[in-house]
Formats: sequence, C-alpha cells, structure tokens
Amino acid sequence: MMKRIIDCVFIGHNQIDLAKYEKIVRGMGTDSGFYRDLNLNFIWYDNKPYSAADIFNLFFTSADAPGGNQKPLSVGETFSSAVAYLATYLCRRGFTFDFVNSFQDEKGQLRRILEEDDVLSAAIVTTYYVSAFPIMEIVDFIRKHNKEVKIIVGGPFIFNYVRHQDAASLEHLFENEINADIYINSAQGETALVETIKALKEGLPLDNIKNIYFRKGGGYQANPTTIEENILSENLVNWNLFADRIGDSVNVRTTISCPFSCAFCGYPEYAGKYQFLKAEEIMEELNQLNRMPALKRVNFIDDTFNIPGKRYKEVLRMMIDSKLKFKWISNFRSQYADKEIVRLMKESGCEVVFLGIESGSDKILKNMNKGASVAEYLRGISLLKEGGIKTMGSFILGFPGETRETVQESVRFIEKSGIDFFRIHLWYCQSIAPIWKQRDKYNLKNKGFEWSHETMDVKEAAQLIYDVFVTIEEPLWIPQYDFEFYAIWNLMDRGLSMEQVKNFIRTFNRGVRQKIKDPSRKDVDIEVIKQFKSSLRTGNGAGEPSDAKKQGTTMDMDSVKFNF
Ligand code: SF4
Repeated sequence: MMKRIIDCVFIGHNQIDLAKYEKIVRGMGTDSGFYRDLNLNFIWYDNKPYSAADIFNLFFTSADAPGGNQKPLSVGETFSSAVAYLATYLCRRGFTFDFVNSFQDEKGQLRRILEEDDVLSAAIVTTYYVSAFPIMEIVDFIRKHNKEVKIIVGGPFIFNYVRHQDAASLEHLFENEINADIYINSAQGETALVETIKALKEGLPLDNIKNIYFRKGGGYQANPTTIEENILSENLVNWNLFADRIGDSVNVRTTISCPFSCAFCGYPEYAGKYQFLKAEEIMEELNQLNRMPALKRVNFIDDTFNIPGKRYKEVLRMMIDSKLKFKWISNFRSQYADKEIVRLMKESGCEVVFLGIESGSDKILKNMNKGASVAEYLRGISLLKEGGIKTMGSFILGFPGETRETVQESVRFIEKSGIDFFRIHLWYCQSIAPIWKQRDKYNLKNKGFEWSHETMDVKEAAQLIYDVFVTIEEPLWIPQYDFEFYAIWNLMDRGLSMEQVKNFIRTFNRGVRQKIKDPSRKDVDIEVIKQFKSSLRTGNGAGEPSDAKKQGTTMDMDSVKFNF
C-alpha cells in the first residue's frame, strides 16, 4: 500500500487513565486541593479507582449487562472543535493532515498512522489540560512509534505556563517533562503552526518564526513574540472534511475570548480580543453539520453563546427556520433570559444549559464582578424551567469574601432555585485573573490551590465542599472527571430515560459519599454495587430519592448540620 504523505497529524484529547492519574495526584498529598477536587469524581471498587464513565462501562457494556449491551461511554464520542478548526486552517493553506479525536480511544489508529504513513509532524491539542501528564503520555507514544516525526505542542497550556513560570521551570517542563520538539506560545497559534510546518516541509530554519520555542544546541531557542490576530469569520470550520468521522455529538465554537471580566477568570486576558461569528456564519457551519448522518447533538462551547443578544435571537430563529435535525447544549448567562428567548431556545432544539452561577450570595457575586444578582438568576432559572430546558449550575467556593454564611447562602440557592444538576468547584487562584490585582484588599496570599485570604483558606473551603456534597442529595451533583453533565444526554442517546440516568448518578454519588464520610474506607459497599446493577431499572427503589424527597419534604437549609 502507498504511504500517505501527512504534513501534520492532530491528536485530540487524552483522558488519562484514572488509576494512573489518581496516583500522580495522590503524590501531591490527599489534603491538596487537586486531590480533594478529584476525590469527588471517583469511587473505589476492587481496589481500583473508577469514574462514573468507568462504572458504566464496567457494568453495562457486556452482552449480559442488566441495562442491555450499551455502547461504552467516552469523552471521545464528542468531536473536538479544536481539531476541526486547526485541521481546516491547515488544509485551506495547502497542507495534508490526519487526526485522532480521542487519544485513548484511537491509539491503534494513531499507531498505524505513525508507523505506516509518511508523517512530518504531530500537533498535540492542549485545550482542557491542567497538567502536563496527558501531553507527556502522548509524546512518549509518538516517540515509541515514530522517532522522526516532529512533535509540536501549543494551546492554552503552553501559553499560560510561559506567562506564569520562570525560565528554569519552563526549561524543565520543555526538556525533562514534555520533551516535544517545538512549542507554540500564543493565545491563538494557528499562524505559527502553519509557518512551522511549512519550514519543516521545505527544510528551512525555524529561527524566523514568531511565537515558537524550538530545540537548538543544548536547549530551546525562544523566538520573538507577536500577537496573532486570526479572524474567526475568515476561518470557518469545513465540517465536510470530517464527515465520515463525526458521531453523535460535536463541539462548536462561535466566539473567541469573552466580553465580561469576572474577577476569578483569566480567560479574557489570555484569549485576547473578543470576536464572534455572525448568525449567518454560524448557520453556514450548522447547515453542514445537519448533513452528518449520525449527528444528534451540538455542544456550543462558547462561554457566552447568548451574547450578543441580537445575534443570539437571530441564530435561534435561523435554526428554527432551517429545521435542524440535531439538538443542542450551551453555556448560558441566565440573567439575560426572557420568555421569548427561552421559547426560541426550546423550539430550536436546546435541551440543557450550563449556568456559571458561581455563588448564591450577592456579596460574593459582587466581589466576583459577575454582573448578575441572585434575584436575576432565580428569575432566569424559573423561565428556563417553565420553558422545559434543564439547567446545570456551576459554583465556586472560597473566593475572597467567602464565609460560612455566604456558603450557606449558596447551599440555600442550590436547594431552592430549581436547578436540575450542580457541581461546586474549589476556587483556583490564577494570577492572570483580575482578583490578583486586588490581593492587598483581601489580604490574598499565594496562588493555585495554595491560597488564603482574610475570610477563608483553601483547606477550609475544600472541607466545606465535602460537607455540602455529603449533605445535598437533590438536585444531583454531577461528577466531572470523564463524565460532565452532557454525558447525561449521551446516556439518554443510548435509550436510557432521564430517571434511569439519574438513578445511576445518584448511586455513584452514594459510593463517593461513603469514602468522604470515612476516608479510611477503600472499596464501596457491596450494596452500592448491587444498586448500580439495578440502577438502570426505573422505579426499583435502588436509586430512588430518599424518603424525605418522596414525601415532598425539602431540607431546611438553616438547620443543616455541616462539619463547620
Ligand atoms: S467566567 Fe466570566 S470572564 Fe470568564 S469566560 Fe465566563 S463569562 Fe467570561
């Protein structure tokens, strides 16, 4: 067979094996913010950590499984917008490419490409990584199967690292940890990628390419930097390039950066100038996707898909007029909800929205510069509920100004607001975020998961999250690692009902609660395993709400006993 000439193979997300990851994070200490965050996302079974997806795949994907022989659940079933965007960008400029959307699921395919084709470079997408481990695993794999290919790593992980670490740490990361050949240091990076591949192909030196580090002499040469200003509307994704590989769901991006300035968030700072596609440009991509035979759902990944409001209404009306066959999911700023918007959302196929609520306390929302109040959130959630759209609320605990009283306000909000699902994140202090400039005001010390401020420190905040997790049974806490709220809809695509999926998650949370309440415990109780096996049968009692919930009584949050 003829070897294919591939200028660049793109490697999508690597969901690192949980057992391996748990061991690495355990090395940081079981008291560390990283471990405590991870700890809410897995249970122990047979002396091995299992995420919710792992448990589903263990019990429900064999021929004799109680819920039927289900297709395994994987993050790879959603097509990556980063791979689609970068590969389209490269292809338009005359280069050849191939890709794997999910490293873990498609290792066999990647090995074949590396061993059987003539591959010039491999570009590793780093959009969702918070540590170097997933990248290191991919680099090792590539080197094992092809020693010649030039490995390029870029994206937010590298850009942030360069901005926040000193030269020695950077050299250590590049040389001793990741060990790639070329690093792209840019909020965007596609221009640098194309110029690098062009130079590699033509055998030209890399010295004149802006925004890259590359191996030279005994280390890495840092080339001069510049701000890339690629125009989103000039680089629409050509989804037809991926038609035969797009499955049930796909991530779609319609903006770059964000027009807001939440005090905890560094995204607008590192993503650069805010830009957004016009409604008709979005439709150009959606109409292509509408022709993909297997596609059931589009996830709009923009932080602010419903901004600007005028564009939002236009695109919703166009989606309705085009009679798109797929459903969709997005983030949503709920303070901008009104009756008409919610009706248009529902009619155009919206199933669920992710709400970055962050806090149920007006005082904390003000400190966060969220530009929203609790009353506005409640009104928005109620409109969404009336309109038949499910809601997933995301909260941050520990932001400057947080006290046990403001945590109580958030707990009350979670219980009473009517959101369907929720999760609380431990605040991670980024020096790129606006709050860092106010550190004297709050007596804020240290970054990452090492912070303390006038009213709380990271250890207290982490313990409070455990307490809330143990206390609140409804709405449902949604695990994150390997799962995420959209996995609920991926499971329903397999023919499960919402109640069956909820039973499954409820049982998983019950298993997590056991180890949170008793840290010396390893494996989950056998009863939890039995409940898993029956959780896909609705109404069997296994995963049903507690008696209090069945009787319609709700918890009085003022009387909740936290381990405060
Ligand atoms: S958290 Fe705020 S600033 Fe950050 S992306 Fe979302 S809306 Fe924008």
